[in-house]
Order: sequence, then structure tokens, then C-alpha cells
Amino acid sequence: MPGFEVFGDEERKEVRDVLDTGVLFRYGFDQARQGHWKAKTFELELAKRMGVNHCHLCSSGTAALSIALAACGVGAGDEVIVPPFTFIATIEAVLSAGGIPVFAEIDDTLCLDPESVKNVITPQTKAVIPVHMCGSMAQIDTIKTICKQNDLILIEDACQSLGATFKGRAAGTFGHMGCFSFDPVKTITCGEGGAVVTNDKKLYIAADAYADHGHDHIGSDRGLEGHPVLGVNFRISELNAAVGVAQLNKLDFIIDKQRKHKKIIKDALAQFSKITFRKIPDEKGDSATFLSFFLPDESKTRKAAAAFGHAGIDACFYWYDNNWHYIRQWDHFKKLKSLAKLPLQLLESYPDYEALKLPRSDDIMSRTISMLIKLSWTDEELSRRTEKIVDVIKKSGL
Ligand SMILES: *Cc1c(COP(=O)(O)O)cnc(C)c1O
Repeated sequence: MPGFEVFGDEERKEVRDVLDTGVLFRYGFDQARQGHWKAKTFELELAKRMGVNHCHLCSSGTAALSIALAACGVGAGDEVIVPPFTFIATIEAVLSAGGIPVFAEIDDTLCLDPESVKNVITPQTKAVIPVHMCGSMAQIDTIKTICKQNDLILIEDACQSLGATFKGRAAGTFGHMGCFSFDPVKTITCGEGGAVVTNDKKLYIAADAYADHGHDHIGSDRGLEGHPVLGVNFRISELNAAVGVAQLNKLDFIIDKQRKHKKIIKDALAQFSKITFRKIPDEKGDSATFLSFFLPDESKTRKAAAAFGHAGIDACFYWYDNNWHYIRQWDHFKKLKSLAKLPLQLLESYPDYEALKLPRSDDIMSRTISMLIKLSWTDEELSRRTEKIVDVIKKSGL
């Protein structure tokens, strides 16, 4: 998964371009920058790679989600359907927009279950945010149909699934807007960075302005630009964008390598009939950052996860106990422990998140183990690792 594994001279060269001119800002300084527009270059390249018309680069994946919600007109009092298995940032973005996170169950794709989405739609529902977790996608076609039928905004959180596709179309390009992250543990990294993509020019213009204090970016004098709307500062610096330009060039290499590495471990695990794999709606489009599989019950899964740890197999995740990625441990969220009053707390009623029950998601997550697929493994390391994994499972009696 992590782009930091392939950081090299290409990234250094792009950053040096920026350091040599001293222009660290993405806008203006036309003369001084000597033709180097790293943020703009990254935006054009990413839009091309994703097959979309527009891309706006920003400071983080969390910022991307906030920008998408704002651009799509999701705000105070709007209900937004989200999954309980995601990085907490998805929920934080909804809360800071003034929205109300409404949880639907996940299915064996480890992403939002379309049927469950249908069940939690109310007259207040404004948007759905499926999160393409751990490198693969939700049943995005079905979710899209549900959104269309119910006139709902569809925003994809594709922060973990850059390069994944469904029937040849890129994750993040099915909805009104798609969000990406380039933080240090994502498929490619800028250090810190994010992006929104869309085919809708109006949404792009709104996003581009909102992320920079409402600037309309028309004309060549920033001080004289118009401000059609209020905004915030979610800008990325040229230094970060420069790293991203080099990393994006490595995306095909990264995904190819991940797929090869993942296949070897997956093929080895396929001999165990009690192990079932995460459903991937289009296997060919898997970005292969993780191998995720299910064991028959929680106790066997806990034992296997512990045994992987004892055997020295690193980067195995039992998300059910994880602080950041599954709702079960989000005590601060369930108690709405924010520094100041949240917009949702001004409403007459809002969900009691401490009382929320998601039995299906609990059942799935309690039986799930995910293994990170690394780029840097040598063939020998990979085959030793695979042998160890098989050995652990054999000893566990599965
Ligand atoms: C990483 C991540 C984010 C947030 O990205 P940052 O760049 O770290 O702010 C949002 N959603 C998901 C699913 C993520 O994995």
C-alpha cells in the first residue's frame, strides 16, 4: 500500500524544482516560478489517470471530504449515510459540515451494504458516502442506482483505493464527487495531501473556490479576484504537490506489484476451506493494497490474529479491536466528545450513537483479518512470509 516505500530520486527532483525557485505557493508568482506548477500538474495528471474532467488538489483527504460536502451543498441538519468501517475522518467531515452521520451496515465487500443503505433513508437524507476500504470497492453500481432513485448526493471516499476500478472505471468517479488522500500511509503520498475529482464543472468550480477562501481564480491578480462564496483554506503547498507528481508516475508500478504479491498469499490461503475471502465486486479492478479474509467465528479469528503476531508476521490487522477504523472503539465519537458544541447538538433530536446497534457489521468485522501488501518484499521474503502464514493456519486447525 504505502507509496513511501518507493520514495526516491524522482521525488527529490520534483521537490528541488520548487526549492530552486523558492515559490512554495500554488497560485501566482508567474515569473519567479519558472514554469513549475506542481499542484496544477498533479491535478491534470490525476484527472487524466482517473478518466474524469476535473480534479482539485487540497491539503488532506479529510479536507477533500469537507470540500466535497460543501461543494455538493451538504450542510447543517442534513443526514449523511456512512459505513461504520472507515477511517474516523469520514465521520469527522460530516460532523464539521453540520451534518448528521447515519450508519448503515457493511456487507462482505467490507463496504456499505446497498440494502442497508435503503433501510436508513429518511426525508432528511441528503447524501451517501460509501468508503472503498482497504484497496477494493463497494457495490458502487447498486449504491449509485439507489442514490439516483432517491435523489441523493453520492460522494465516494476513495482515500484508500486510488487505482481501484469497477468494470474499468476508477473508484471515486461514480458519484458526484470522489475524494482521495495522499497521507503517508496511502497508495501514493505527498506527505500530506488530498484531492477531489468530478465530471461536473459546477461542482469543480465550487470546490476550487471553497478550498481557497472563495477565490474565483479568475484573472492574474489574486488581490483583485472575486469571492462568490465563503470558504476556508485547504490549500496544498507546492512542496507537497511536487512529491505527488513523482509518486503518481509510479502508481501503475505500485498496483502491478501489489497484485503480484497479493496473488501469491491469496493462492496459498485458498487451500483452507474454512477461510473465505472478502467479496470484490470486480476482481480485476482490485488495487490489492490489502488481502482481507474471514474466519468462521470471532474466537478463531482472535486466535489466528494473535498467532500471526507471535509468528512475527507484521502488518496484520484485526480491525474489530482497532481504535481508528471501526466504530466499536470510537468512544469519543459515541459520546460526541468535541472541543465545542457541534451543530448537530442544536437539533431537537439526533441519533444516540452509544445505543446504536450494527449486528451484521459486528459479525463481519469480528471475523475479518486484513494483511497489508508491501511493495518492498523480495521474492524470498514473500515466500518465507507465505510459508509462515500457511503454517500458522495449519497449526490453528482450520
Ligand atoms: C486516510 C483516510 C482519510 C483521510 O485522509 P487524510 O489525508 O489522512 O486526512 C479519509 N478516509 C479514509 C477512508 C482514509 O483512509
